[in-house]
Amino acid sequence: MEALMKVAPGVGNVELRQIDEPAPGPGQALIEVRAAGICGTDLHIYHDEFRTRPPVVMGHEIAGTVAALGAGVTGIQVGERVTTETYFSTCGTCRFCRAGRPNLCADRMSIGSAVNGGFARYVVVPARNLHRLPASVDEVAGALTEPLACVVHGALEQAQPLPGDLAVVAGPGAIGLLTLQAVRAAGARVVALGTAQDERRLELAQQLGAEHVVNVERDDPAALIGELTDGRGADVVYECSGAGPAAQQLLRLVRRAGRYAQIGLFGKPVAWDLDQICYKELTVTGSNASTPTAWPRALALLAAGLVQTKPLVSDVFALREWRQAFDAFEQKRGVKLVLRP
Ligand SMILES: [Zn+2]
Ligand SMILES: [Zn+2]
Repeated sequence: MEALMKVAPGVGNVELRQIDEPAPGPGQALIEVRAAGICGTDLHIYHDEFRTRPPVVMGHEIAGTVAALGAGVTGIQVGERVTTETYFSTCGTCRFCRAGRPNLCADRMSIGSAVNGGFARYVVVPARNLHRLPASVDEVAGALTEPLACVVHGALEQAQPLPGDLAVVAGPGAIGLLTLQAVRAAGARVVALGTAQDERRLELAQQLGAEHVVNVERDDPAALIGELTDGRGADVVYECSGAGPAAQQLLRLVRRAGRYAQIGLFGKPVAWDLDQICYKELTVTGSNASTPTAWPRALALLAAGLVQTKPLVSDVFALREWRQAFDAFEQKRGVKLVLRP
């Protein structure tokens, strides 16, 4: 089969290669991949900014059909439509694994970086990682379950928005648009912030439930947030852009005793006025990938239509068009791009 692989360390070194079709071992499932999302992590892998074990098939946002099952697998049938959690293995015994936080396990091996992933027709995963797709969710929408699970963990489990909260989400990319929907499903009102470059994404944010959207290069959101909160400031703020100025701006917009959630990655140290954490007595949370508890909730949000992933998918490419897709993503054309192996 054809597979899009990181073939060696270093910048680039990503190419289509012909490899053998894998077969599932005991406890494993073979998935025929129908859709695989391209993630910021994949660009980081391309640029050698994210650790991999090459040669390895990339792709960790996967939906497809169960094509075969290894020995001893029960509870799932060949032909079922599924998505998969991304940790191929964790140690199972460290304090984080034992506490239900395998995302923090130092020995975590994930598909698409350490173990072969889903930018290929077939991928083998532990069968316990599978989740059935809801009937109302097709494979393209279902491939975004993984980023949604990351958002459920970072935006809901970690930052815990409450009904009636005023939330500010900075950065209307795929993660920001999922965050705004998840936070809204939790009962918060949402103001989305972006730049002039985000004009179309901000329109999408409004369609997906943002009460207000602000182009911060044109308007200062502080007056609006003040109006909406009797001058207190936002209850909870989400930095989803990975841009230093947005992080700084959110510190100004959040209220005293409010919550600041860092969801985006900057890729470098940024200037941040940490004094505000003291003065305002802020609670700051971070998040790293997803926890097992986030997956059922992500799927429940999709099944109930409380979060929509389909409107985020601006284009679907064949595997052979991967370079076009990566270029488009890098140049921020569209929101989310999906490969169809
Ligand atoms: Zn991802
Ligand atoms: Zn562990």
